[in-house]
Amino acid sequence: MAKAKGYPEALETKLRDRALHADDSNPQFTKTVEEISRTIPHMCFQCGTCTSSCPSAPRSSYRIRKFVRRVVLGLENEALTDPDLWLCTTCYSCTDRCPRDIAPTDTIMAMRNLAFKRDIIPINFLKTVQAIYKSGHGVPNNDVNRAARVKLGLTADPPTTHMYPEYIKGIQKIIDHYKLKENADRIIKEAEG
Ligand code: SF4
Ligand code: SF4
Repeated sequence: MAKAKGYPEALETKLRDRALHADDSNPQFTKTVEEISRTIPHMCFQCGTCTSSCPSAPRSSYRIRKFVRRVVLGLENEALTDPDLWLCTTCYSCTDRCPRDIAPTDTIMAMRNLAFKRDIIPINFLKTVQAIYKSGHGVPNNDVNRAARVKLGLTADPPTTHMYPEYIKGIQKIIDHYKLKENADRIIKEAEG
């Protein structure tokens, strides 16, 4: 490599070393997340716009920029075992604002899928799967809501599976196809006995 004009020797060496290495990095993880998410985290230049747009950041230790960096560095275990992975609300603010046209939200969704394949998932997410399987709703209606709806002149139940329970079967068919309920039941049983 030709000597860069005016650069000290150490900086020249750094500029030459474009590969990022860590003992615990897995380059395949970067590729897999890019394939699943169909976005380009390797283009991230760590500006922090995503984190500063994120509604979860001021309320928790979750930092989307850190997760994007982990993808780029192939830090699979560090990313998939961090409970903060589940604090994204999928609001897509970061995706709207990223100056590099990356979709950080979709990298999170890809990592959640990979984590679930390793049975790494918060129990409350699994209980939501069970609730949807049973009622078609992650948060089913209840008596307090019903009374409030009637007071507002609405029907006690919304025009969803609550009003048309015959459609719950269709929802169950989709969930069964992906073995979501089966896995949710198994993981909860293993965790809670
Ligand atoms: S906004 Fe985009 S480029 Fe900036 S840190 Fe986040 S992902 Fe990287
Ligand atoms: S999509 Fe997730 S990571 Fe992005 S701003 Fe919303 S909560 Fe934060």
